[in-house]
Amino acid sequence: MAGKVQAPKGTFDVLPEGAGPRLRLQHAAEELLGRWGYDYVETPIFEDTELFARGVGETTDIVQKEMFTFDDQGGRSITLRPEGTAPVARAYIEHGMHKRPQPVKLWYWGPFFRYEAPQAGRYRQFNQVGVEAIGTASPSIDAEVIGLLADLLSGTRGLRLRISSIGTPETRREYSDELREHLRAHEDQLSDDVRARLDANPLRAFDSDHAGTQAVMRDAPRLLDRLGDEDEEHFAQVRALLDAMEIAYEVDGTLVRGLDYYTRTVFEFTSDALGAQSGVGGGGRYDLLIEQLGGPATPGIGWAAGIERILLASEAEDAGERLDVYVAHSDDPLTAIYVASRLHRRGKSAQLEHAGRSIKGQMKQADRLGARVVVIVEDGKLAVRNMATGEQQEARDRDDAIALAEAVA
Ligand code: ATP
Ligand code: MG
Repeated sequence: MAGKVQAPKGTFDVLPEGAGPRLRLQHAAEELLGRWGYDYVETPIFEDTELFARGVGETTDIVQKEMFTFDDQGGRSITLRPEGTAPVARAYIEHGMHKRPQPVKLWYWGPFFRYEAPQAGRYRQFNQVGVEAIGTASPSIDAEVIGLLADLLSGTRGLRLRISSIGTPETRREYSDELREHLRAHEDQLSDDVRARLDANPLRAFDSDHAGTQAVMRDAPRLLDRLGDEDEEHFAQVRALLDAMEIAYEVDGTLVRGLDYYTRTVFEFTSDALGAQSGVGGGGRYDLLIEQLGGPATPGIGWAAGIERILLASEAEDAGERLDVYVAHSDDPLTAIYVASRLHRRGKSAQLEHAGRSIKGQMKQADRLGARVVVIVEDGKLAVRNMATGEQQEARDRDDAIALAEAVA
C-alpha cells in the first residue's frame, strides 16, 4: 500500500468539532466592523512578488525569510500573500478609491502564508482578520481602529495593549544613526542577526529575543524621545482619544513592528495566555505606503489579528449549537423530510435519520446531538417526545406533530 499523504508542515485542518468558535468569531467580526462602517474586501491569495518587496520592505523578516515565492508557468514571480495591508493598498490604488469619500474603511478575513518554524500559535498557513482605514491622518481614526480591535479581543485572557509612535522616516533616519552608534559601541554583545542588519535596519534590534542584544537595548536611546513636534502632538491626541474611550494601554518606546511601512502610531495587543507567541494582533499608521506603491500621497492606518491566536487565548468555552428537533422514522422518509423541512421554514434547526438505524438507535443519536425534541414516525403514527422531561405525546397528523414539536423546541 502507498504511504499516507499528510497535510504539509505548518498547516492544519479545521475539523467540525473545532469550527464553531471560529465561525462565531467571524460573525462577531462582521457585525462589529459593519456597525462601525467598515466594508468587506477580498484580494487574491497570491500577488506579484514585487508588491511585498516594495510594500512590506526588503529588510524585513517577512521579505527576507518568510515568503512562499515561486515562478509560475509564465515565468512571473508570484508570492502567496504574507500580510494584508500591501494587497489592500494595491487594490485602493488600482480601483481609484481615492475618489470615494475618505476615509475608505475596509476589513478582510482570510488565509496568509509565512515560511516559519511551526509551533503552538505559529503556522505556515494561518488566518487573519484585519482592517484598513485609508485617506485621513486624523488621530481620531487611530483611536477608532485601536478601539475596534480592543472590542474584538474583549474575550481574550490576559490581554495587554502597548502603543508607541515611530514618527516620520526623517526622524527615524536621524534616530537610526544615533542608535547605530550605540549598537556599534556594544557590538560584541549583539546577536549575529542584529549585527548583520546593523546598517540596513538597526531598529529591529528592539525585536530581538537574544539576551545580549536585549541588555544592550535596555539603555539605548528611545525614538519616542526624538519625535518632531507634529508627531508628538499627533501621538498626544491619540492617547487622549483612547483615554476618552476608556481603553487601557501602556506607552512602550521599545515597540517596533516587523514591517517597514509604518509611520507615527504603532500598537500591539498581546495575551499572556499564549506563551512565546504572545502577539494577538497589531498594526499602525502607514502614511507613505500608498505613494510608495505608485498611488497618490494618502495616509492610512490598519491592523491585523491572528484568528488561531485569538481562539487559543479566548475565554469562552465552546457551548456548541443545540439541535431543536430530530426526526426519527422507521420506514417513512416522505413524512420525515416533510416534518424536518417545515420546521426549518419556521426557523427551527432539525435533522432527520439517514442511516437506517432502529428507532432505539435513532433515539441515542438524537441524544448525542443534544436534540430538545424528537418527532417519531413509526407504523403510520406520529409522536413528539420532549427529551428534557421524557414526556411523549401522540400527534393527530404531521402538521399537528410540527406544531407540538415547535411548542417544545
Ligand atoms: P510574531 O511576532 O508572532 O511573529 P508578527 O509581528 O509577525 O507576529 P503581524 O505581521 O503583525 O505578526 O501579524 C498580525 C498577527 O497575525 C499576529 O499578531 C499574530 O496573531 C498573527 N500571526 C502572524 N504570524 C503568524 C503565524 N505564522 N501563525 C499564526 N499566526 C500568525
Ligand atoms: Mg512574525
